[in-house]
Parts: sequence; C-alpha cells; structure tokens
Amino acid sequence: ENGSTVSITVVGASGDLAKKKIFPALFALYYEGCLPKHFTVFGYARSKMTDAELRTMVSKTLTCRIDKRENCGEKMEQFLERCFYHSGQYDSQENFAELDKKLKEHEGRKVSNRLFYLSVPPNVFIDAVRCASLSASAGNGWTRVIVEKPFGRDSESSAALTKGLKQYLDEDQIFRIDHYLGKELVENLSVLRFSNLIFEPLWSRQYIRNVQFIFSEDFGTEGRGGYFDNYGIIRDIMQNHLLQILALFAMETPVTLDAEDIRNEKVKVLRSMRPLELENMVIGQYKSHTKGGVTYPAYTDDKTVPKDSLTPTFAAAALFIDNARWDGVPFLMKAGKALHNKKAEIRVQFRHVPGNLYNRNIGTDLDRATNELVIRVQPDEAIYLKINNKVPGLGMKLDRSNLNLHYAARYSKEIPDAYERLLLDAIEGERRLFIRSDELDAAWSLFTPVLKELEEKRIIPEYYPYGSRGPVGAHYLAARYKVRWGDVSVEQ
Ligand code: NAP
Repeated sequence: ENGSTVSITVVGASGDLAKKKIFPALFALYYEGCLPKHFTVFGYARSKMTDAELRTMVSKTLTCRIDKRENCGEKMEQFLERCFYHSGQYDSQENFAELDKKLKEHEGRKVSNRLFYLSVPPNVFIDAVRCASLSASAGNGWTRVIVEKPFGRDSESSAALTKGLKQYLDEDQIFRIDHYLGKELVENLSVLRFSNLIFEPLWSRQYIRNVQFIFSEDFGTEGRGGYFDNYGIIRDIMQNHLLQILALFAMETPVTLDAEDIRNEKVKVLRSMRPLELENMVIGQYKSHTKGGVTYPAYTDDKTVPKDSLTPTFAAAALFIDNARWDGVPFLMKAGKALHNKKAEIRVQFRHVPGNLYNRNIGTDLDRATNELVIRVQPDEAIYLKINNKVPGLGMKLDRSNLNLHYAARYSKEIPDAYERLLLDAIEGERRLFIRSDELDAAWSLFTPVLKELEEKRIIPEYYPYGSRGPVGAHYLAARYKVRWGDVSVEQ
C-alpha cells in the first residue's frame, strides 16, 4: 500500500541472532521484492554505534542467493541505505521515545506500522516490551512484537512471561517465534498429509507403528554454555521445536488453513497427550573423547558451565497421545549435542504387512519388513519412502529401496531461511506459524513435571563420548516399545 509504511526495529541489534539471522533475512526479503515499498529498518541496542557503523556490521552478514546473483551488490547498497541505528537502554522509556521520534521522521504522514523484534536475553523482554509499547507504538497502524525463545523455563515462569507481555500487548500483537515452524519441510508436512490421497488414510494407529522426531548437532556448547546450562536440551529443543513438529504431524484436519483453525487443532492434540514421565525419558551429557589425536572437550570443560553441572545435553523420550487416532502409538523424540552428525528429521515407521507373501524373502530383518517415511528437515532436505522392491533378474530377491524426493535434485531454487518466512508472515499479519499462548501452556504442562523431577532428584545423566551416537539408554527406551531408531540402522 502506497499510503503506509513498515518500520522494523531489531531490539538487540548488536547481538548474535541479529547478525546471523535477522538482518540477512530482511535483506533476502528485500531482494525478493517481498518488503513493502516504504520500509525502514532500525537497530536498537545499548552499544554505541553510528548508522554507518551499523551498516558496516550488517553488510558483512548479507549474502546473495546462489541462483540469483545479478544486481545483488546494488540491492545490498539500497537495503543498507534503509538501515539506521539508535542506541538506548532496554528499560528506558525516554530512549524509546527518542527512537519513536526518529521513526516518525521516516514515516512522514503515512500510516505507520511497527514491528519490534526482541532479540535480547529473556531477562529484558518485559522491560523492552513495556518501553516499546508505551513510548514507541505506532500512532495509527499496527504494532507487533516478535518474541524469541525461551518462553520461560517451566509452566509458572512461562505464565508469568505471558502475563507480563499481556500487560502491554494484546495476544494478537505477540508473535512467539519457533523457527522450526518456518522451515520448508515442516510447512510441507501439511501439504503432504492433506493434499495427497495416499498418506492421510494411513495416518493413524491402524497403519503407523511409531513416529520419531530426531535432532542432532555435531558440536557442543563451544564456550557459549552459559545460557544453555540454565535450560538444557529438553527445554532448548524438545519442549518447543520437536513438540511443535509433533503437533503438526499428529493434529486432526483443521477446518481451514487459517491460523486460528490450525492452532486450535494443535492445542487439541497437545492437550490429548500424557505428561511425560521420568521412566519414559533418558538423559545424557557428553564427555571428553580423543579421536585421531584430537581431544574433544566434555560439556563441563566449557568455561561458562559449572563443573558439577547435571544439565542434559542429550535426551530421548517416549510420548503418547491418548486419542482415537493415536492410542498406543509411541512418539519418540531424541535430541542431542556433540553427536556424530548434524540432522533434524521425522521418521514414520509403518506396521508390517499382514500375512506378507514375501516373508520368506524378507526373513527376520525387522527394518526390511517396515515401510518407513523419512522427512529430512535439515540439512539436504528430502522426503523419501523406504519400500521393498524386487531386485531385477531371474531370481526372487528383495531389495530395500527409496522412493526419493531429493530437494536439491528436484528444485534448483535455494530454500529460504526459516527467518525469512517468519518475518514476512509477521509483517503480513499471518499468525499460522507463531505460537499462541494456550499452545505454549499446553506444551509446558507436558514437560514441567518431569523437568522438576529431574532437577529435584538430581538425576545423573548418562555420559556419552563427544562425537558418538549418544547414550545406549536411548536404545533401551525404544526397545521397551519394540522400536528401533530409524537413524541408526545399517542402511539409512
Ligand atoms: P546475545 O547476542 O547474547 O544478546 C543480544 C544483545 O542483547 C547483545 O548484543 C547485547 O546488546 C544485549 N544483551 C546481552 N546481554 C544482556 C544483558 N544481560 N542485559 C541486557 N542486555 C543484554 O543474544 P542472541 O544470541 O543474539 O539471542 C537473542 C535472543 O534470541 C535470545 O532471547 C536468545 O535466547 C534467542 N535465540 C538466539 C538464537 C541464536 O542462534 N543466537 C537462536 C534462537 C533463539 P547491547 O549490549 O548492545 O545492548
């Protein structure tokens, strides 16, 4: 709209996330022609910087799409000209009022819409929201605030945060970001389910034996463990990212694709779940390991981590959804740092073919008897289905093969970063991929009891070597439900 402007203020602009993700995503949106005609980007933080210094900082982080290099340098210059900086405290209404004045100069007489991205540590969330909302809200357009995780560390602190935010904002102004929801393959989950005939009819306890949500990183905290140690892998990955994917995976068909309809279904499925129990959980922590003459550190070797920390850097869990569709189906989650690879994927293991005529040719190999659908969220996005196939020739030998949709081979386009999708949605007021407060409450209710128990009983994690496949306990947990982790079988 020609008569309106959008001002995007990155609060905490001097920080890691702003440099790594937010500014590059804003530039990509600009370059793709997705930002409104009249937009301004403001960096806000306590660090002293001039506009020119901010531009230099930002320019180092911008990249061009592999498939779209032409004019990129020129576009960068144009984008940087629209970036400004204001230095101020997060708890100063006065400093935010100065920002407001600068924003007004750019907005002129047009309708002003304002987006604040809170990219600061959680202890300053409320201060920043109070000051931004009281001193720098849009005069006549909308004001929206993107909040980054962590949304508290248990049910109580999360409720307190929500209450604090709602003192200054309405629920529809709050955009709680879970960047996994912005990932291409997570968005595709609903397309796969609801616009293909062949999956949705199988999507239940009748045909699915178990579902696995797996996240692994091949590095540790590397000197940035201060934040992590207070949260641990369960809060950092499972309670949010993996559970969000689970909800999308398992929800009933929404009435429409509207945000409220989708979020209603997600809340429903989360509320049908049993809170996690300690006996359905394994925790681990990485220890030092020497390989090929290189010594990799233990978690507690990180100088920002207390020497006696019991914080899990690995966890595996079995969850259950007590509804008609999923009764008795184990939903397994596994997340860890300092493992042997870097991956995020969903694995759906189907039941065995009843009375399979080819049992003789399959033998007792459990993996072979199972069709498995794998959705590899990252890296190297792919969706593949493991099927049994006859090896060509005169004999009758079966082979396990993949029907494979490999994104790099099928689509020549670079896949946008999750932050691009989410920033664009926030600007357009599309709330589908953001977490509503009742979803967040439901998610915390599932994890809070077990998190409390782990901490109160000071449960010792199972130590696993840096770079390994993680604690053996994860296999026993899966075995209890007659499951094998799909990512550790010989053929992947
Ligand atoms: P960060 O670099 O530690 O902090 C961002 C900025 O906040 C800093 O540049 C600093 O700016 C200010 N700040 C730092 N510590 C502060 C303190 N104790 N009190 C007041 N201000 C402080 O954080 P980040 O990694 O960019 O992350 C920002 C937010 O995103 C956090 O909530 C984080 O949990 C979340 N997040 C980060 C990532 C990531 O990959 N980094 C991923 C997901 C979520 P000034 O000193 O200039 O004011």
